[in-house]
Amino acid sequence: MKKIAIDVDDTLSATSLKFHQVLSKLYGSVPGITPPAMAKHYALSGRVLHYGDNPAAFNYIHNLSNSPEFHLDLKPISGSVESLNLISQHIDCYWTARVDTESMRQVTELWLKKYYPIRPVVMRPSEYATNSSFLKAEIIISKPGYYSAVIDNDVRVVHALLELGYKGEIFVHGLTEEDHKKHFKKNTSQIIFCENWDLLGPALIDYFS
Ligand SMILES: [Mg+2]
Repeated sequence: MKKIAIDVDDTLSATSLKFHQVLSKLYGSVPGITPPAMAKHYALSGRVLHYGDNPAAFNYIHNLSNSPEFHLDLKPISGSVESLNLISQHIDCYWTARVDTESMRQVTELWLKKYYPIRPVVMRPSEYATNSSFLKAEIIISKPGYYSAVIDNDVRVVHALLELGYKGEIFVHGLTEEDHKKHFKKNTSQIIFCENWDLLGPALIDYFS
C-alpha cells in the first residue's frame, strides 16, 4: 500500500498566520506583509519575511520556534482535517523539523491528536541545533520504498529530496508552480504544487485511488 509522510508547520498548522499575529502586534503591521506572503517567503527562502530582518524580532522568532506554548494553539489549515481523514489509511507518520525535546514532542503529539489520525511523529533529533533540510530529507530516503509520497511546504526540503534521489511523489502545499519558477530553475516534473488544501485534498485522493 502507498504510504505518505506529512509535514506539520504550514502544511497542517497555520504557523505563519500565528507568527504574523504575534509579530505584527509587537513590531507593527505593514501593508503587503500578510500571512500568505510570509508563508510563501519562508517556504522559498527559509527566512521570515520583513520581521526576520529586524535583529530583535529575529531572536524572538527563534525563541517562538522552540516554544511549546506558541505551538499549542495553532489553527489547523482549512481543509486539512477533512482531507487527512479521507486518506487516513495511507498516512504513515507526521514529519517535522521541530526539535525533539520532551515539551515540544508532547505539544506536537497533543496538537496532532486533537485534529488528525493518530500516527508516529518523526522530529528533528535534539543534537541537531540548526534546521537542516537535508536531515529531514535523509530521514525519508533512509526508508527506501517505505514512503511512496511526502507532503511539505518547504522547497529546501523538496530540493534536498531531489538531490538525494528520492523517487516518490512530492506534494508541495502552499505554493504554485509559478511561485517556484520565479526563484528556481529546477525540473519540477516530480513535484505536485497545491496552493491550498482545496487542491491538495483531491490530488491526494487521486494519487491513492
Ligand atoms: Mg513545514
